[in-house]
Amino acid sequence: MNIHEYQAKALLKEFGAPVSNGIAIFKPSEAKAAAKKLGGPLWVVKSQIHAGGRGKGKFKEKSAGDKGGVRLAKSIEEVEAFAKQMLGATLVTIQTGPAGKQVNRLYIEDGSDIAKEFYLSMLVDRETGRTAFVVSTEGGMDIEEVAHKTPEKIKTFSIDPATGFMPHHGRTVAKALGLSGDLARQAETVAGILYKAFVAKDMAMLEINPLIVTKDDKLKVLDAKVSFDSNALYRHPDVMELRDITEEDEKEIEASKYDLAYIALDGTIGCMVNGA
Ligand code: ADP
Ligand code: MG
Repeated sequence: MNIHEYQAKALLKEFGAPVSNGIAIFKPSEAKAAAKKLGGPLWVVKSQIHAGGRGKGKFKEKSAGDKGGVRLAKSIEEVEAFAKQMLGATLVTIQTGPAGKQVNRLYIEDGSDIAKEFYLSMLVDRETGRTAFVVSTEGGMDIEEVAHKTPEKIKTFSIDPATGFMPHHGRTVAKALGLSGDLARQAETVAGILYKAFVAKDMAMLEINPLIVTKDDKLKVLDAKVSFDSNALYRHPDVMELRDITEEDEKEIEASKYDLAYIALDGTIGCMVNGA
């Protein structure tokens, strides 16, 4: 099960992860109050859909303007204008497919002054049966492309569940990001916090792209994509409440009512597998 960026950030914040202040809105009329409350002087208006690549995405409707799904605003009026344009419009990104996804929620967030963008993710690696970290100095962009063109810029390692996250794991992350001094210590702490959240909530994947260093040398989680192990959801009613079925395929929702693991695909080939 996937959740929205703003929900993932709220969850990670509970564990102590550094995230910006932000407010989720559902209607354009809520934009002004949210922007005022955050205070500015810089805001980011972020489309909340269960797909990445929003920044470089494009809206189908002309009325939504030519800017992407993540927009920098320099005034409250601009936040309002973007909210009017984006809410209800259809965002197409490399991950949505050509049909795109309707944007029904926006996250208005404090704008950060970015000095560097890193990549950090965690996933359950079936080969080792462990939680793996994937870390790279090349954040903000397509990690698949980095993996293809410059694989040496990606560091991966896994955590033995018997020991859990150890101080040396934190140092490995800091080193892979080329950090030293106080920033290295921040990276060690953040990596430990993220691991704790990952295990506690039975996540299947946690992707922070980008993890940034601000111009005043603070490490921050600027984007967060989280998915959970569906088989463990019964232990996390709080997570289950975050489900947004408007983001899910109708056929998959129907199948889930019968405990069927069904994945809807395009095309004309069907595959039915049964095992026990
Ligand atoms: P996506 O990965 O779906 O494109 P992101 O949340 O990563 O969405 O946003 C895209 C880019 O927008 C980021 O790489 C970053 O450069 C910029 N950005 C996102 N949030 C903020 C923010 N709060 N302040 C400043 N820039 C931001
Ligand atoms: Mg991102």
